[in-house]
Amino acid sequence: MVAELKELRALTGDDNGAQRVAFTKTWLAARAWLRKKLEALPAEIHTDAAGNTWTTLRGASERALLIGGHIDSVPNGGWLDGCLNVLAGVEILRRINGQYAGQPPVTVRLVDWADEEGARFGKSLFGSSACSGNLNVDEARGLKDKDGIRLPDALKEIGVDLERAKECGKELKHAGAYLELHIEQGPVLLDLDLPLGAVLGTFGVERHAVTFRGQAAHSGSTPMNRRKDALLAAAKMSLEIYPIAARHGGVCTIGSCTTKPGIVTSVVEECRITLDQRHLDARALARMLAEARAAADRFAGEGKVSVSWERLWQIEPVLFNPDLIGFCDDAIGETCGKSHRLPSGPLHDAAEVARAGVPTVMMFVQSLHGISHNKIEDTREEHLELCVTAFDKLAEKTMRWMEK
Ligand SMILES: [Zn+2]
Repeated sequence: MVAELKELRALTGDDNGAQRVAFTKTWLAARAWLRKKLEALPAEIHTDAAGNTWTTLRGASERALLIGGHIDSVPNGGWLDGCLNVLAGVEILRRINGQYAGQPPVTVRLVDWADEEGARFGKSLFGSSACSGNLNVDEARGLKDKDGIRLPDALKEIGVDLERAKECGKELKHAGAYLELHIEQGPVLLDLDLPLGAVLGTFGVERHAVTFRGQAAHSGSTPMNRRKDALLAAAKMSLEIYPIAARHGGVCTIGSCTTKPGIVTSVVEECRITLDQRHLDARALARMLAEARAAADRFAGEGKVSVSWERLWQIEPVLFNPDLIGFCDDAIGETCGKSHRLPSGPLHDAAEVARAGVPTVMMFVQSLHGISHNKIEDTREEHLELCVTAFDKLAEKTMRWMEK
């Protein structure tokens, strides 16, 4: 697997990193390369209505163990994000095929999801959300890339009809479980000095714009006690999100702040900030939001300004299957001694599959520097070897579980 990852890097990367952006020539070259590897197996290969590629090793039972990943990358991306999952899956198909002489107890399927990253059209999880049924086709129809090319036209180029993309949902018909390996993309396992972790689920997200409105006034003639300073309330908010996050164990970010009139000689009349809050527990996320609203009201009152909220985006937390999380812990324990359970901050295709009702779990492998979506993204080679070994054990345990 490590050798194949390097082969893929040489084929589809350059000095700036991986260039396998979905629906581009390099992405198609990566997929053709992958297909050659898969054709060596006695497996059926097809691409579904949304452009996801499925490789199926028929088993004694129709019930299917799904292993997923995405070979697409962001522009100037890392060498492991997404393709590690796919190539680990290829390795596991080979092992299962060899061990069971081409007929495993359950059907085993590898899926390469189309456009996980959403790098070109700004909307991630295209293939997996089409499959789960959560894709908003009306919204997708209007998406354009930076050259003005529409998503439906880019899809047509690769033989996908957006209007029919959701028909790929039938691929999940016999799904008994879904497994996905991924680099952590953060520093948690690195800081704990652990190679692998079992993922509990993906964070729910509440994303809002919060606008404080006061009054513009001359910066020279207005005494400090007579000001209605919108920025002052927003600044207090930026401090307050730290205790709110600390109380509940989630994360909160104020990622942008714009002021009007935004000139050096005026008190700020209007200040708009964005607040992104994430938690694995829906009730805790709701409490973080409620506390942020209460704090905003308090600071607005103290500063004699008004405040209004606008929801920008929201998604509920997705919890993975407890039995599979247990197997993932066991597989990690057997491979390298100590496991750790952690939530995923980023969204993944696995979240869509779980939302479709398929028992799901992910395994994370440590990321050096805690960094991803960057050419410096890396993982120690011995950790890559550990992760494919542990992931293979997880696949075997899951097959046993599905047989029952
Ligand atoms: Zn990824």
